[in-house]
Amino acid sequence: MSMYPWLDTLWQGFTAHPERLPHALLLEGARGIGKRDFALALAAAWLCERPGSDGHACGQCRACHWFAQGSHPDFRLLEPFAGEDEDAEAEEGASRKKREISIAQVRALHDFVNLSSHCAGRRAVVLHPAETLNPAAANALLKT
Ligand SMILES: [Zn+2]
Repeated sequence: MSMYPWLDTLWQGFTAHPERLPHALLLEGARGIGKRDFALALAAAWLCERPGSDGHACGQCRACHWFAQGSHPDFRLLEPFAGEDEDAEAEEGASRKKREISIAQVRALHDFVNLSSHCAGRRAVVLHPAETLNPAAANALLKT
């Protein structure tokens, strides 16, 4: 199964030896090439209980169902519109939509990464796009 053919080589490089993956990856590239989808697929594969020989998540196991529902206890997705500020955003209107990943969102990760994992000892965080981290949030992430 190929997500994006132009990312196949990169995918194979990352998934051939998952035990060798570094603790963090920064995916950089042109807009629209599939970096976010790639990161999410990699996180799903990392958390999957029975990844296939191609390195992709099986899509069938308990972890994959949780992931697909957005409720995997060992996964967090940080994006500018996620988090507890959504209600305040709605009140301020669409013209002032939040465009940064806040320090509060990053601090919420602290407990997540320091608690024991729910299953299999693996956890994953996708932070997208990294350039929306404001300086305070970036510093907080370094401490996490
Ligand atoms: Zn699975």
